[in-house]
Amino acid sequence: MSRLCVHTITTKPLTLEQCLDAFPKRGVTGITIWRQALEGRDPATVRRRTADAGLEVVSLCRGGFFPAHSPADRQKAIDDNLLAISQAHALGAPLVVLVCGAVPGQSLTESRKQITDGIAALLPAARAAGVKLAIEPLHPMYADDRSAVNTMRQAHEICDALGSPEEVGIAVDVYHVWWDPELPEQIARAGRTGRLHAFHLCDWKTPTVDLLNDRGLMGEGCIPIREISDQVDAAGFTGHREVEIFSDKWWGIDQEEFLDRIARSYDLVYS
Ligand code: ZN
Repeated sequence: MSRLCVHTITTKPLTLEQCLDAFPKRGVTGITIWRQALEGRDPATVRRRTADAGLEVVSLCRGGFFPAHSPADRQKAIDDNLLAISQAHALGAPLVVLVCGAVPGQSLTESRKQITDGIAALLPAARAAGVKLAIEPLHPMYADDRSAVNTMRQAHEICDALGSPEEVGIAVDVYHVWWDPELPEQIARAGRTGRLHAFHLCDWKTPTVDLLNDRGLMGEGCIPIREISDQVDAAGFTGHREVEIFSDKWWGIDQEEFLDRIARSYDLVYS
């Protein structure tokens, strides 16, 4: 069975219902649902329609953004993450992906501490809901305002600091970590410690003209996707390979055609 999953954000112009119709036609078997795609919908209904479409809900994106200057704002973030966990539970999503956050004007060390505290505050609810959490290290270009966790080593350090609860692991996104000389050993470590919770695919374009919305389709850039994917599999990962592309360019074309291209690119990587 295909391990191909597509994130709803990848085909942002489509509604969730259109995704449920379009994804399976390309052999997609998994869907990661972004919270904005859920807006105005009952998660239990979405769960049923997703199953009817033959798609497995791989994860809910996203929680996180824990650091803030004031305790009140940090509590707000925790409350929002608790909501994400309950939405994931209602959807039947086994995982919430965490973009951990960072705030300009605050040290990365302090932000990492607040991230650790924030995740610790979620653990009882995650455990009760049967929902796992995945720390997604983000490329260092996002360190000032999106994530103070920029390497897999740092993600492991947070898992260690939390006492290695089985709920908390790592989302490996090739876009964010491909450059890291420690990547093979940190992937192997994630396998050994049961922390390989998710695997995300896209590509790194040169030049990248927008820090957020210029990600490439697999094969468009320089990331050794198959090599990293093989390391992840060798570490014991058997889950979906999730195509997550933010791209003004690709959002600007017909999304049915884009999905055809995604399926072809995926097949080329794994042929
Ligand atoms: Zn990702």
